[in-house]
Amino acid sequence: KISNRIRSIPEVGNNAWAIFEKAQKLREQGIDVTMLSIGDHETITPEPIIDHMAQAARRGNTGYASIPGMAPLRAAIADRAGASVENVFVTPGGQFALFEALMATIDPGDKVAILDPYYATYPITIRAAGGQPVIARALPDAGFQPDFDDLDRVLHDAKVLLINSPNNPTGAIYPRETMERIAALCIKHDVWLISDEVYDTQVWEGEHISPRTLPDMAQRTIVIGSMSKSHVMTGFRLGWLIAPEFLVSAVFELAIATTYGVPGFIQEAAAFALREGDAIAEETTARYRRRRDLAVQTLQGANGVRMSAPQGAMYVMLDIRATGLSGNAFAESLLDTHHIAVMPGEGFGQAAAGHLRVSLTLPDEDLVRALRTLTDHAASLL
Ligand code: PLP
Repeated sequence: KISNRIRSIPEVGNNAWAIFEKAQKLREQGIDVTMLSIGDHETITPEPIIDHMAQAARRGNTGYASIPGMAPLRAAIADRAGASVENVFVTPGGQFALFEALMATIDPGDKVAILDPYYATYPITIRAAGGQPVIARALPDAGFQPDFDDLDRVLHDAKVLLINSPNNPTGAIYPRETMERIAALCIKHDVWLISDEVYDTQVWEGEHISPRTLPDMAQRTIVIGSMSKSHVMTGFRLGWLIAPEFLVSAVFELAIATTYGVPGFIQEAAAFALREGDAIAEETTARYRRRRDLAVQTLQGANGVRMSAPQGAMYVMLDIRATGLSGNAFAESLLDTHHIAVMPGEGFGQAAAGHLRVSLTLPDEDLVRALRTLTDHAASLL
């Protein structure tokens, strides 16, 4: 009695979340599990942001809020992106912005191209919106950069291309030439480009290029943004999309039918964080940069584990194919033996098989200790 649409949503991440669930169960049994498997900060949202939210609620901003977003917040987001206020629509998190962007652009059965490895929820979000994911590769040996022959092939009958740079899980950033080639293909095949930029403050090498800023791309690009990673606000559920005005109007209709907007006190906290929280964002970015550098140092020359240093985002991808184990099998044995939870690469598609994604979400010393245990474990399997 459940709709075909929902039944068509495949199991999230080919069983990869089984590791996460197993880790949670061990925790419930009182076992101290080191969690390197999810993309959430180990710290709570900085106090000034929480204060601002609480003050806004006490002041009375607890009724229905503006559906596209309150003017000061939309303006802050628009300024950040060099867009105009009419192009901005505030959403409950980047994840819902992705869903709304897809709902506004595809009809049932339409194809949406994604690059493998992909963020684990992409295929299910596409399915939930009625679409069909089609895959182009971004292989480890190509530094997880897009395979343009694949892209050209899958885009010919796709409606949308969904990309993510800086990339979760791979840490790849697409340089300007790559973004230009992606843009050219979108124009050639007349497809929408959804550009997931939730890690745009986490750039360790190179520069972040938003394809919306490239010639002729603003009218076919939907940028997805979020407060989650930049300002330690994952639980606030505050994101946005930036798109042509006619698409923003379409999303407005959808929001009336679904969320009816984001809570006003959350919006006020986000506007404050964007306008006055630069120090918070800078500190957050610096923390992940330091941990990324520590991870690179710790993993250099390790036996059985190879890493290409991430150019961005808050993860490292480790190639453990030398151990002969799959990502799933390695992650399971690491959890069983050392109570360390990481994400198997298989959760992010085929291209990342035999890899692990490790989140940089532990205090520095604990992170280094966990990485050493992981490399020792890999060496013991050789
Ligand atoms: N996109 C990517 C690539 C992500 O990694 C995440 C969260 O981890 C999201 C989107 C969704 O972020 P949120 O819904 O917290 O804004």
